[in-house]
Amino acid sequence: MTAITDHDLERFSLHAERVAVVGYGSQGRAQALNLRDSGTDLVLGLRESGPSWERAKDDGFEVLSVGDAVRSASFVAMLTPDMAQPSLFEQEVRPRLKTNACLLFAHGFSVHYKRLDLPQDLDVVLVAPKGPGDLVRKEYERGRGVPCLYAVHQDETGQAARRALGFAHAIGGARGGLIETTFAEETETDLFGEQAVLCGGVKELVKAGFETLVEAGYSPQIAYFECMHELKLIVDLFYEGGLSKMHQFVSETAKFGALTQGPKVVDLHTRQRMAEILAGVQSGAFAREWVAEHANGLPLYSKLLDEDRDHQIERVGRDLRSRMAWLNAPAESQGHGR
Ligand code: NDP
Ligand code: MG
Repeated sequence: MTAITDHDLERFSLHAERVAVVGYGSQGRAQALNLRDSGTDLVLGLRESGPSWERAKDDGFEVLSVGDAVRSASFVAMLTPDMAQPSLFEQEVRPRLKTNACLLFAHGFSVHYKRLDLPQDLDVVLVAPKGPGDLVRKEYERGRGVPCLYAVHQDETGQAARRALGFAHAIGGARGGLIETTFAEETETDLFGEQAVLCGGVKELVKAGFETLVEAGYSPQIAYFECMHELKLIVDLFYEGGLSKMHQFVSETAKFGALTQGPKVVDLHTRQRMAEILAGVQSGAFAREWVAEHANGLPLYSKLLDEDRDHQIERVGRDLRSRMAWLNAPAESQGHGR
């Protein structure tokens, strides 16, 4: 599948729309700043009690309550956390949406798992940046962009795809390549990726490797360097040139060990577990568990998060990183909320 580029989108614009951006966090702030710099007519919809209200005002935006912003707009970007969307949508957004408005999401969770009662007279679209908000902003400022996915869930006006493309264009989303998808594909692959590989799988692999070395009597500092610190060097090679570039840059000995021993770690058993994780995402079982946990005040989430924060690798890492002067420069990975 070929990605749409910025050049392809020059004829798509948001000039006929007034856009309400609801939420001013990781994605909301980045996308609002990019939209403004692209000349979009823009209003922020926020709650007066929250910290974002002042921040958006300080950044020079017109800020209204969520309801007033939605009432004034033809295009509404829902950039609040997924768990906050149902009640906010029901109370503030749905009653005030204009007929034929375009409702946009940055992740398909709420729509795909049917958590919102969507009126028929709307366009419902997705523009999902494949990166955290601060990167979406920084890349835009550099004249580049983070790759984005887009999808149409509901096309009431016959213009839903054009409207999604106009929005993607305005946030710089086509500069890094824009790929068409569905809400189902974006949601299920995103959840699977973060659980099995990116955030869950890699984290457990690092911890298990660290613990294996420490339990065998090796120094925790050296185990930290081997299992966590050096991961960045390898991930950078993947990022720049895939498996081939990694193979090109590591030693022959590392390559032989990787090729013969790696499949023993990620073996058939791991693949079966991955298939189970995917099945839970597809059936909605994971979504139901997460929604229930959230509604219940996050007891399991808090307990597991505390366990990770108290892990020995964290104490060792804090100490070692305090001596890495280059880390004091602001990191691009900060602020990835999901
Ligand atoms: P954040 O947690 O950064 O959003 C925080 C913002 O939402 C703040 O402005 C906050 O306002 C507002 N907010 C939170 N709860 C409510 C509420 N109940 N009513 C009104 N406003 C509220 O979210 P993200 O930017 O991380 O995520 C937004 C969307 O983007 C999600 O759908 C997410 O899945 C998606 N996404 C996120 C990515 C990321 O890297 N973070 C990447 C790609 C997609 P206040 O200051 O008042 O608390
Ligand atoms: Mg994700």
